[in-house]
Amino acid sequence: MTRTEAGTTAGSWRVGVIGDPVAHSLSPALQQPGLDALGIPARYALWPTPATELPHRVAGLREPDVLGANVTLPHKLAVMALLDEVSPLAERAGAVNTIINRHGRLLGDNTDIAGFAAAVREVCPDPAGRHALVLGAGGAARAVALALDELRVAGITVLNRNADRASRLATGLSPVAIGAGALDETTLRRLLPQTTMLINATALGWHAGETPLPLDLLALLPDDALVVDLTYRETDLLIAARGRRLATLDGLPMLVHQGARALALWTGQGAPLAVMRAAAAAARAARERVG
Ligand code: NDP
Repeated sequence: MTRTEAGTTAGSWRVGVIGDPVAHSLSPALQQPGLDALGIPARYALWPTPATELPHRVAGLREPDVLGANVTLPHKLAVMALLDEVSPLAERAGAVNTIINRHGRLLGDNTDIAGFAAAVREVCPDPAGRHALVLGAGGAARAVALALDELRVAGITVLNRNADRASRLATGLSPVAIGAGALDETTLRRLLPQTTMLINATALGWHAGETPLPLDLLALLPDDALVVDLTYRETDLLIAARGRRLATLDGLPMLVHQGARALALWTGQGAPLAVMRAAAAAARAARERVG
């Protein structure tokens, strides 16, 4: 029985996003239209959850009317210990962003990896051969590094403000070959001339004036470089890259693709990607008009 059929007999399903805070999340804006388009009677909710309440929140996901949940900061790692099973990829990423309730058993998965790979493929159909430089070494950078390996890029280097964290990321993802170093001007000047895919996976970009590197250094990139920013809004980095006539990709397509994969895991049905993409773009535009 699909979730659609079960839902009509059992009443309305519940699903939501667990994090602290979650008020800013775009997930409801793209998941609810996705559920509606599939005809699944479910409500997607914001589930703000301080760390002390995480075990109780996760236990509640075992209820028969719950499809599962998305997980965002700061719980992507901590939630793993509370689940019955974690996919090998999520285990490797050290992060769960999607929980699926299978008859009271909770499975954890990571859809950020496939989400990033799918978003890149849309603008760069043949990423193999690209030399990727990832700025940042947090959870998102880790997912990006795994996705770059899946995309078979020619080289991956991770630079971080805290260089030890970049080294730990590289060691932790062995045997994938990843270079690691400090996010400083000397290193950037050395690496940018060979970089054909630059990815901002730092937390910098949400506010005007915030950039992960001095923008004049973009002049060092080859003309065919792609600049990706995981921030799902227009950033100073993306504006400057376009000013240099480089191809760019913001974080919204990744958000949509990871959400579409989560929806497919909860429902067993193909996600309505075009509906979710349009809803996410509308929600982002509405948010930008407000503030
Ligand atoms: P983490 O908190 O795990 O990591 C944050 C990263 O940003 C670290 O590498 C940190 O460096 C770096 N950083 C923070 N402040 C500074 C600073 N002032 N200067 C230099 N580096 C800094 O966050 P995530 O990895 O989960 O998320 C990173 C970004 O990716 C966020 O903007 C998030 O919204 C976005 N994201 C987008 C997704 C999408 O679908 N588009 C999915 C997931 C994330 P250090 O280690 O030195 O502190």
